[in-house]
Amino acid sequence: MVQRSPATLAPNSRHRIEAMSNPACSFCHKPQSAVLQLVAVPPSYICDECAMLAVEMISVRHPDWRERLMSTLARLPDRPGEK
Ligand SMILES: [Zn+2]
Repeated sequence: MVQRSPATLAPNSRHRIEAMSNPACSFCHKPQSAVLQLVAVPPSYICDECAMLAVEMISVRHPDWRERLMSTLARLPDRPGEK
């Protein structure tokens, strides 16, 4: 097995290692400690604030999408683990 140090990895691999060891929002760059929650889609993350901004932007541009959003939210349990 060939061992490679981070310095010899492809840029994308270095980005993945850095993102996994020091998670921060890929959009606003706030660390986990500065936001309510980070959602991971490795190697990227989005924080609750950027997700909310995205929802607002999509809602303004696509008003019909709000109905889908609202029906999705209505199906969510009030607390994690509830059905
Ligand atoms: Zn963010």
